[in-house]
Amino acid sequence: MHAEMLVLQFPREVVDQPIIYRLVKDFSLEFNLLRAAINPQQEGLIVMELRGHPQDFRRGLKYLRKAGVKVRQVAREVGRNEESCYQCGTCTAVCPTRALYIERPAMAVAFDAARCSACELCCQVCPAHAMEVRLNREAV
Ligand code: SF4
Ligand code: SF4
Repeated sequence: MHAEMLVLQFPREVVDQPIIYRLVKDFSLEFNLLRAAINPQQEGLIVMELRGHPQDFRRGLKYLRKAGVKVRQVAREVGRNEESCYQCGTCTAVCPTRALYIERPAMAVAFDAARCSACELCCQVCPAHAMEVRLNREAV
């Protein structure tokens, strides 16, 4: 069994096609969806763990690329620069795994690295750029 955490970007032309359904049906892959969103340009973004037999996995990725979906592995590790973080809480709204959360009653923004899937969504929204990718992201 092979498993990877992936970010899939769907261009507007394919956003309404049953691509994930085909991954399951035609390639016997399983997935764990962490986040799905459509941006104002009508492009889709999915963060998920995809797993299956290595050969099916490779065939599934080939199918995605052919369908026009941009696929990339998520970074191996995301960390927080404690000096830069000013506790605004913005990141807690996007974190799909609740690795970033409000700690009560202190109302401090806590970061539990063990729960982080390295999806990088917090890096995109943090106004202080305090959430940092610690290893290079690789294209698949
Ligand atoms: S968005 Fe950035 S500055 Fe705000 S709490 Fe999260 S890590 Fe800290
Ligand atoms: S990269 Fe950021 S948003 Fe993604 S799981 Fe880790 S802490 Fe949460």
